[in-house]
Amino acid sequence: MKQRIFLSPPHMSGREQERVQEALASNYIAPLGPMVDAFEKEFAEYVGIPHCVALSSGTAAMHLALRHLGVGPGDVVLASSLTFIGSVSPASFLGAELRFIDCNEMTWNMDPVLLKKSVDDCLREGRKPAAVIPTDLYGQCADYDSILAVCAPHGIPVLIDSAEAMGSRYRRRHAGCGGAAAIFSFNGNKIITTSGGGMLASEDKAMIEHARKLSTQARENFPHYEHVEIGYNYRMSNVLAAIGRGQLEVLDQRVARRREIFEFYKSTLGKLPGISFMPEADYGKSNRWLTVTQIDPKRSGTDREKVRLGLEADNVESRPIWKPMHRQPVFAACRVYGGSVSESLFRNGLCLPSGTAMTAVDLERVCTGIKKHWGLKD
Ligand SMILES: *Cc1c(COP(=O)(O)O)cnc(C)c1O
Repeated sequence: MKQRIFLSPPHMSGREQERVQEALASNYIAPLGPMVDAFEKEFAEYVGIPHCVALSSGTAAMHLALRHLGVGPGDVVLASSLTFIGSVSPASFLGAELRFIDCNEMTWNMDPVLLKKSVDDCLREGRKPAAVIPTDLYGQCADYDSILAVCAPHGIPVLIDSAEAMGSRYRRRHAGCGGAAAIFSFNGNKIITTSGGGMLASEDKAMIEHARKLSTQARENFPHYEHVEIGYNYRMSNVLAAIGRGQLEVLDQRVARRREIFEFYKSTLGKLPGISFMPEADYGKSNRWLTVTQIDPKRSGTDREKVRLGLEADNVESRPIWKPMHRQPVFAACRVYGGSVSESLFRNGLCLPSGTAMTAVDLERVCTGIKKHWGLKD
């Protein structure tokens, strides 16, 4: 069996080991310590959002942001339907009602026109949304300005899910800038990783200070353990922050390589009938975290699932696009605005291996495996 090509495996820079050694030598093996402080500071400088708290996951970051806003039962939270569940499950943890917004075809991200419609409906019902959560899908920023134009007049906080978008840009700004807060993820499959981890970033110092307190069991400032609210155990460990610092150093290189991989796939496969690639919005620059294709069964003579299974038989991992949240059994009772665009993207969408450590030989192997399906019409 040939060596497996994974969808998006971790790719170390080489500097992580040194940093981890430093952390071990200092005996700061706890959550908290100088590596965490330094990682937060360096991350804040990189993204241009002044206040950051390093956490155990991106999901935890979203949970704390919603908790800080006081989201709870009876509240409505509006979110992108085409996303990963970690984006929206925190609203469910807190007992809020989720309503999902479809994407548009140009960006595959939250459609601001549908968002406006849903906000208007909420206001008519006398239920101003407690938060709006747009996802930066596969590294492409949502159209922040259009989304903020809908939300800002009503004072609705926008929590940007930039879990997949580290290193991406919206106009000249880094992904995640401009909302009430942004979340990032350092899960093992993301463009940079700490094995598991996340960051909550905001211009609002009070939000980050509260999130930091909530992330360590909401301990009050007393010598003994005093609690006036319930918190969580969500802090990032000092050892993992050491890995994060090593990864952050090479983020720009990783973005350049992901974009190269995208261009390679596009130039090698782009002429096959019925295949197309995720468009890049003119307002930004995607990190191309994953190369995502659409395979039209009518024009291609094959389909996404045949291609996926063919690659799997050659020990190559690929994956369907996120299944829209409004189609998830667990959210069957939730309202959705639009829905057909993300459903169609899901039906025909395939994410190709995009790890930055892939070799030219790996890329050729994936492309050969895909091209086969256009020769053999079964
Ligand atoms: C990965 C991801 C998350 C959650 O991050 P974790 O660190 O895995 O909890 C949230 N939203 C999106 C869009 C993601 O891709």
